[in-house]
Amino acid sequence: MDTCLEVRNYILDWGAIPNLVPMIIFGSDGFPNDGTSDGQKAVEHIQNCQKCKFWIRDLTNTEDVARMERLSRYCCSTMFAVVEEPEKKGIHLKIRQFRDENLWMLDQPGREFGFEFFSFCPWCGNKFPEHPFIDDDKGRG
Ligand SMILES: [Zn+2]
Ligand SMILES: [Zn+2]
Repeated sequence: MDTCLEVRNYILDWGAIPNLVPMIIFGSDGFPNDGTSDGQKAVEHIQNCQKCKFWIRDLTNTEDVARMERLSRYCCSTMFAVVEEPEKKGIHLKIRQFRDENLWMLDQPGREFGFEFFSFCPWCGNKFPEHPFIDDDKGRG
């Protein structure tokens, strides 16, 4: 049996399909895996083999992959969620221009002053960029 087939069977037996597919596509160094070194090797193969990447992409729905693609461009998954899926988190951060600066702020509908601004991500501690992570309507929050 060739490596690609062996690896695909391993991944199918593990049961990572379809839920973990986006994470596997956007992960690296064989993560996430089933906690064994065989599992890590199998996932690493998928992440580095063009043919297997196409194979695994076809096993998930494109919506999940598109979401993961956006998520992977943020500093962390929580930040992605509070900007692009605020209704799920109950908190909404957005970036808006004030004078000549772009600032990340908490969305507080109805509030006219006393805005809360953030320069660092409250969840992962990374410094925020001075532009949206993804420059489109969704990405501006
Ligand atoms: Zn392969
Ligand atoms: Zn973050």
